[in-house]
Amino acid sequence: MNTKSIQDYYLLDDYYTDEHKLIRQSTKEWVNRSVRPIIDEYAQKHESPIHLIKEMGKLGILGSFIPQNYGGSGLDQISYGLIMQELEAGDSAIRSIASVQTSLVMYPIFAFGSEEQKRKYLPGLASGELIGCFGLTEPNHGSNPSGMECRLKLKNNDYILNGSKMWITNSPIADIAVVWAKDENNIVRGAIIEKGMAGFTAPEISRKWSLRASLTGELVFDDVLVPSTHILPGVEGLKGPMMCLNSARYGIAWGSIGLALDCYSVALKYSLERNQFGVPIATFQLVQKKLAEMITEIAKAQLLAWRLGVLKNDNRANPAQISMAKRNNVKMAMDVARECRQILGAIGITGDFPIMRHMMNLESVVTYEGTHDIHLLITGLDATGISSFS
Ligand SMILES: Cc1cc2nc3c(=O)[nH]c(=O)nc-3n(C[C@H](O)[C@H](O)[C@H](O)COP(=O)(O)OP(=O)(O)OC[C@H]3O[C@@H](n4cnc5c(N)ncnc54)[C@H](O)[C@@H]3O)c2cc1C
Repeated sequence: MNTKSIQDYYLLDDYYTDEHKLIRQSTKEWVNRSVRPIIDEYAQKHESPIHLIKEMGKLGILGSFIPQNYGGSGLDQISYGLIMQELEAGDSAIRSIASVQTSLVMYPIFAFGSEEQKRKYLPGLASGELIGCFGLTEPNHGSNPSGMECRLKLKNNDYILNGSKMWITNSPIADIAVVWAKDENNIVRGAIIEKGMAGFTAPEISRKWSLRASLTGELVFDDVLVPSTHILPGVEGLKGPMMCLNSARYGIAWGSIGLALDCYSVALKYSLERNQFGVPIATFQLVQKKLAEMITEIAKAQLLAWRLGVLKNDNRANPAQISMAKRNNVKMAMDVARECRQILGAIGITGDFPIMRHMMNLESVVTYEGTHDIHLLITGLDATGISSFS
């Protein structure tokens, strides 16, 4: 078995710099050392290994593309993608933590924040001393965030925030939340809400069957006084959160490849070692069909992600291209995980192997950052010029 060709069937390494390969390798080694040995137990217990956040900070994983003068690593978009790929090979929960911190919290503060806000929050978020979360989804508004009910009402020179957010990654442990709410003119504004502000609570959502090693919660605002210095001055309207989601969706397009490769390599090895009817199950044509189809789809997803990374580095990746890659690659990973689990037979449902955990995690990944069907409609809009959902 040639493991190298499985990980990189079309020799994309030719296009990666030595720095890209080093970043990928060091992230992989960290995942092997710090994530794999503990992740199944955390997922089984429905607990999050939050001690890993500071470790990721030390490695430069948080805010990888944020400039170094704000505490980030100043890396390019392909490096960010490769980091997400390796994290998600460990678990989607770990990739989610890094995605949220980097693309949904640090990015909006960097792109839309005042100089004072950048200096105050970005270095702590990069080191993992501060944990951030991103509040867009509400109990009554998920796929259609334009209907949001959260309100920022002007009071003297400051604001009063009321409303609630739902399904927020890391909200129960977050020190700050980047929250999107409408002002009195019905314009969406971003605000940085700090833990401890009077009237702000973040209860946990428990009993999840997916992303069990990630904390998910609500954000509840009951007459929270938000100083005007906490409003992000550089953006108005839904384009603010949408630009954040574009960055996170891009990372998911890469992350799902790492997950799929993890499932595939486990299933391939198992198929060569497991004997039935006197031969390895890899002998059977139906098993080979599964393996052949899966590696084909993984290779196609890798090409898509790499090309998207090149476009993103050139500032030429448009939201529809990012949407297509998120949808395609997550669906690919779902199909791969399900087929791999079948190859393992009964033992595939246990925590002895990562596949079932990956499979369950994907039920969240296919829903958040825009559901599979919403992304289909985005491509439909791009193709026809007709919106079926506005
Ligand atoms: C584990 C987890 C973590 C999350 N983390 C965050 C976070 O950190 N921050 C945050 O803001 N949000 C977060 N989310 C929320 C996530 O982004 C939303 O769940 C998602 O946008 C879908 O919204 P919804 O669940 O309200 O589903 P709905 O919008 O109610 O959709 C329900 C179903 O209807 C379909 N549907 C809706 N509209 C249409 C249409 N026009 N045409 C066809 N089908 C349609 C959808 O595709 C879906 O199948 C998280 C979700 C999960 C599960």
